[in-house]
Amino acid sequence: MKLKLKVVEIFNSIQGEGANVGKSATFVRLSNCNKNCAYCDTDWDVGAEMTVAEILSEVRKYPDSMIVWTGGEPTLQLTSEILAEFKSYFQAIETNGTNPVPEGIDYISCSPKVGWEVLKQNFGSVDEFRFPVVAGDEIPSIDELPHASNYFLSPIFDGEVKKRVEINRANLDYCLSVIQRDPRWRLSVQLHKLINVQ
Ligand code: SF4
Repeated sequence: MKLKLKVVEIFNSIQGEGANVGKSATFVRLSNCNKNCAYCDTDWDVGAEMTVAEILSEVRKYPDSMIVWTGGEPTLQLTSEILAEFKSYFQAIETNGTNPVPEGIDYISCSPKVGWEVLKQNFGSVDEFRFPVVAGDEIPSIDELPHASNYFLSPIFDGEVKKRVEINRANLDYCLSVIQRDPRWRLSVQLHKLINVQ
């Protein structure tokens, strides 16, 4: 049986967020999501089926040793069988936390869109939590979350992705005030949007 995934795009860039910020990576954006967030800035409802061999051939065009599986929600399609085909790469995933991640993932970045109890069921620990923040949002206590190596707050920008985005000062200041109160939080500014790369 041929292993296939529905893919929106494959591209090479730098990681713009979280603890791997600035690192070169090849991003594989998979179709479909099980959420419909108001601030979502990705086209996850498009895409075309590709075999694993076709994806590997695209990924191999770049010298990177890191793949970032993103979406949409990549756990809707990824399986340990598929990840095994990419085992020569360091494989990171960007997930909304609704499902456990399959075996074979080396780095979990979770931007939670579910309650903390579901997160605790799905993850013993993750590498990073990343919360997109608008000023005034309720920020969870780190003590209630599953263990993570990093806890990030990411202020949501103004403007349109792929055109021009700007820092929203109120959102940024709000994140900074939370970090001042609990320095276990860290700031993650979406560098790729600021410097206008994919
Ligand atoms: S979970 Fe992520 S990809 Fe899905 S709708 Fe929300 S922001 Fe978009």
